[in-house]
Parts: sequence; structure tokens; C-alpha cells
Amino acid sequence: SALALTGCGRQESTTNSGSGSSASAGFEKGSLIGVALPQKTSENWVLAEKLFKDDLEAAGYKTDVQFANNGVAEQQNQISSMVSKGAKVIIVGAIDSKQLGSQLKQAKDAGATVIAYDRLVEDTANVDYYLAFDNFKVGELQGQALIDGLKKKGSAPWNIELLAGSPDDANSKRFFDGAMSKLQPEISKGEMKVLSGQTQFNQVVTQGWKAENAQKRFDTILSGSYASAKLDGVLSPNDTLARAVLTSVKSAGKPTPVITGQDSEVESVKLIMKGEQYSTISKDTRALVKQAVTMVNELQSTGKATTNDEKSYNNGKKVVPAYLLEPVIVTKDNAAEVYKNDPTLGPITK
Ligand code: BGC
Repeated sequence: SALALTGCGRQESTTNSGSGSSASAGFEKGSLIGVALPQKTSENWVLAEKLFKDDLEAAGYKTDVQFANNGVAEQQNQISSMVSKGAKVIIVGAIDSKQLGSQLKQAKDAGATVIAYDRLVEDTANVDYYLAFDNFKVGELQGQALIDGLKKKGSAPWNIELLAGSPDDANSKRFFDGAMSKLQPEISKGEMKVLSGQTQFNQVVTQGWKAENAQKRFDTILSGSYASAKLDGVLSPNDTLARAVLTSVKSAGKPTPVITGQDSEVESVKLIMKGEQYSTISKDTRALVKQAVTMVNELQSTGKATTNDEKSYNNGKKVVPAYLLEPVIVTKDNAAEVYKNDPTLGPITK
């Protein structure tokens, strides 16, 4: 029954609109919605914080929106606190996909619905939905952009290096696998060479998505493998790390490689227009948060949210029903068009 006793002994009341099925019961209008965000490792998270507050409050909810800049333990405490304050939906952008198991169990035991936002939570059955941009597709677009960018500059073979995100973020492997689905055939054919020899996910990850970690790794790679060779291209999983690699390349006195990115960060879009970063990915945070609010509204009135992918996100314990949005590749060629309605980036003139 939806009339469940919570861990704190409160009786939950619902506003079942009369569909007759207790399984489709929602919750009271104006309820508390918790949003647990990770660290501010890219601009999209900072924007998400503001949008979640604004959009959920505009839709009539109370909010508890938190960043966990001090790491996993802080995020665990924040989620527990949202549960004990009676949050009806908890939206989670996990720092570490595998370390929220007991907090999400508390959430489910208290009758809350759990939505994994942007990043999947893994190894737990206590997650109801996943909402994100198609992460594998992001990687495919990045891999293809690297190939396209290199072709524009000259012919194969090319020396490239690979970079991935933080290994505790479930997205990182998906981005990498998507990109490698395009790059591995080129590497196998000898069209692309990785002089460092680092081609496995765990060899190319960037702990905590931290720029300094990527920069250090590239300093070492450049001095070790590119003293007398040219680095033509770099697969970078996001804009922050792309700029870290460009800093490393500059300080090594090397020419700018073709380099990918993600997130449409202000500084990177400028670099794209200057021809220094080749591509980024547009994942409109406004659209993602808007969809999150739509899901909350659906849960409020019916107890169920709409999904559009029932098969792709197996988290080790269950296949999590997902709502996926389409990412868009951005280069100098289409930036003005893609960002024309973006209040931060647009309008762009070539
Ligand atoms: C997000 C990326 C972001 C990265 C670092 C990932 O989970 O999907 O957009 O660049 O986290 O913050």
C-alpha cells in the first residue's frame, strides 16, 4: 500500500486522484524534494543547482538542494538528512556510483522515490529511475569528432592519446566505451597510434574529474613519448579536462592537437571559436532539469514517471528505467546555431 509507515513513524498521506489503484498513488502537493548534487567539477552542476531550486519552487515544491564538495561521506549524510526531513523524491547526482546503497535503502524504506540524475547509481535495487543524456552516444559523438577533426587537418596515421573521466562516476566508462567504438577500429588498422601505450579505461581515468590530475598525466606523457613525435589528437571526456590538456601541451611547447570535450563550458566555447578546441557536446542542463521536474510532477499526481528506455541501464542489481535525452556535437561550424537560444552562450558570431 502507498499508505506506508516511514522509518520515523509518520503516516504518509497521498493525493491519489481516484484512479482506483493504490500502486498509482502520488503524494501531497508542496512536498519536499531533495536534490543531492556531487562536486562542482563542471559548470553544468553549478547551473543545475540554481535551476533545481528555481524550477521546483516555481512548481510549488519545497526543496533541499545540496552540493557535496567534501566528498562521499558528506553526500551520504545529505541524503540521510533529506530522508529524515520527509522528502518524497530524492534526485541524486552521485559522486561515487557505488557508495549510496544504505542511504538509498533508507529513502526507499521511508517511501521516497529515487531518481538518479545524470549519473547512474550502481549495485543497488533502491533506485527507481535514471534521467540523463544518452552517455554512450556522447562518447560516440566524441570519438567521431576526433576522427573528423583529424581528417580535416591531414591524413593518417595520427598519434592520439586517450583520456577518461573519474572511475567512480558510472558515466566515465560509458563515455569511453562509446568513443572507443569509433576509435578502436582506427587503432587496430594502424590509422591511429597511441604512443604512450595507454589504451585501457583504467590506464586513462582522471580521479575526481580533476583538471590537475589530467594535466599531470599529460605532462608525463608528453615528455615521455612525444619528445620527438607530434601529438595530433586527444580524446577528452569533457571541457574542463580538455583545457587542462591544452595547458599541458602549451607548457611543453607543442602545437595544439585536435581535442574533444563536453558540457559547452564558456571558456571552451571561446576556444572552439578560436580554433583551439575542436569540439564539445551540448547537453542542455535546462532541458534535463525541466524533465526532472516533469518526472516529479508525474510522481506527485500518479506515483509513476514516464521513461523512454527500459533496457540500457543495468546497474548490477536491476535494469533502471531511464529517460534519455539526445546529446548534440558542437564544433565551430554549428556553434552559433546550437547556442542561439542559450542565455549564457548565445548569440555567437563567427
Ligand atoms: C557529467 C559530465 C561532466 C562530468 C564532470 C559527468 O557525470 O555527465 O557532463 O563533465 O560529470 O563533472
